Amino acid sequence: MSDIEQFRGECAAWLDENCPQSMRLEGPKAGDGTIGEMLAWGGRKADWSKNPDARVWLDRMAEKGWTAPTWPIEYGGGGLDKDEARVLRQELARLKAMPALAGFGLTMIGPLLVDHGTEEQKKRFLPEICRGEIRWCQGYSEPNSGSDLASLATRAELDGDDWVLNGQKVWTSYADLADWMFCLVRTDTENKHAGITFILFDMDDPGVTVRPIPLISGYSPFCETFIEDVRVPRDQVVGGVNNGWAMAKALLGHERNMISSAFSEYSSVNRVVELAREYLPGEDGRIGDAHRRDSIAALTMDKACLDLTIRRSGEAAKLGQQPGAETSIFKYYATELNKDRFSLMLSLLGPQALGWEGEGFESSELEITREWLRSRGNSIEGGTSEIQLNIIAKRVLGLPD
Ligand SMILES: Cc1cc2nc3c(=O)[nH]c(=O)nc-3n(C[C@H](O)[C@H](O)[C@H](O)COP(=O)(O)OP(=O)(O)OC[C@H]3O[C@@H](n4cnc5c(N)ncnc54)[C@H](O)[C@@H]3O)c2cc1C
Repeated sequence: MSDIEQFRGECAAWLDENCPQSMRLEGPKAGDGTIGEMLAWGGRKADWSKNPDARVWLDRMAEKGWTAPTWPIEYGGGGLDKDEARVLRQELARLKAMPALAGFGLTMIGPLLVDHGTEEQKKRFLPEICRGEIRWCQGYSEPNSGSDLASLATRAELDGDDWVLNGQKVWTSYADLADWMFCLVRTDTENKHAGITFILFDMDDPGVTVRPIPLISGYSPFCETFIEDVRVPRDQVVGGVNNGWAMAKALLGHERNMISSAFSEYSSVNRVVELAREYLPGEDGRIGDAHRRDSIAALTMDKACLDLTIRRSGEAAKLGQQPGAETSIFKYYATELNKDRFSLMLSLLGPQALGWEGEGFESSELEITREWLRSRGNSIEGGTSEIQLNIIAKRVLGLPD
């Protein structure tokens, strides 16, 4: 038996025994919780009461190092090679297991620290990230700096061994639940891109104030973060002073990969097919509307193309290539596809898609309407579709300005 087959056997046996039943999906969700509620985001403010099994699952996976399977063992990871990590993913998919841990720690700041953190930063933060002990938020956007991110104005001035930060961030997702922020600050006002520094700070530090931004939907993950004379030790700079733009871009590569693969994972076309069969039943189990059948077939083909292209890029990553500008293609395509998918689902529901709360609508219908509304933000967060198209035009296709 080859080593990898032996690993598959051990991995499957361990998962069968250790993955709690309530953390296995039979469709897009299990039990009463939505995917968002069931996912473990970790952190000091985590509330495990909705699904205590999420905590059990996280602890068991973290113990194995499998929340971050390819990170080195000494930093809390699993030390698996790419083939073993693929087997682990396949075995988790076989069980339809929920991820043991979600969040920016594993998908964004962790990979950045693995590549660019100092030894001390890796030892300090990576094990805590793997165990889900700290939850992170991203302090990039400012009231006047969104797409033109390099115009950011939150400044940091050196005072002894500390940087002193002043400014404001906006659209900081889940800042109210986060323990730490990775943040871009201006350390040189003369140079636009070359005057930015990437820095980490604790959200409980004096001078950090978080205010949730209410949205029309009545639900909001967004916050404004006010930063007033926040003192940050020098050793919490990542990648060197005035080198933050390179760090920001490297992290955005991870972010765009994460956004596109998240949609690739969850945006199963099966859910659309099931919905179509339920709401537009035809003869012999077929979908009873030729136009909708056509739309679903087109969506299925587009999704297959995206999955194959992402897999191709995964093969390149195996050969040691860092994510490059092509992550913009994935980000653009995956988010537009996800929006199309929800628009299609909404059209399948017909008038049942018009509910927001109250009677007359199934909870699954209300959830689809809310997810549809949330999906509109997918092509804005992590860089808008227009900005991705600019990047693709310039850096992938080499078109002139
Ligand atoms: C769901 C969600 C979650 C988010 N979470 C976070 C977070 O956690 N942390 C964080 O820092 N930020 C976060 N953001 C903010 C996000 O990064 C910004 O909204 C985004 O970068 C766009 O910036 P803006 O909103 O200022 O729009 P603007 O930059 O003002 O753009 C407005 C419009 O003009 C277009 N545009 C601007 N410049 C150009 C150009 N050169 N060419 C063509 N079109 C252009 C844009 O595409 C857009 O359609 C989040 C946003 C959303 C929607």
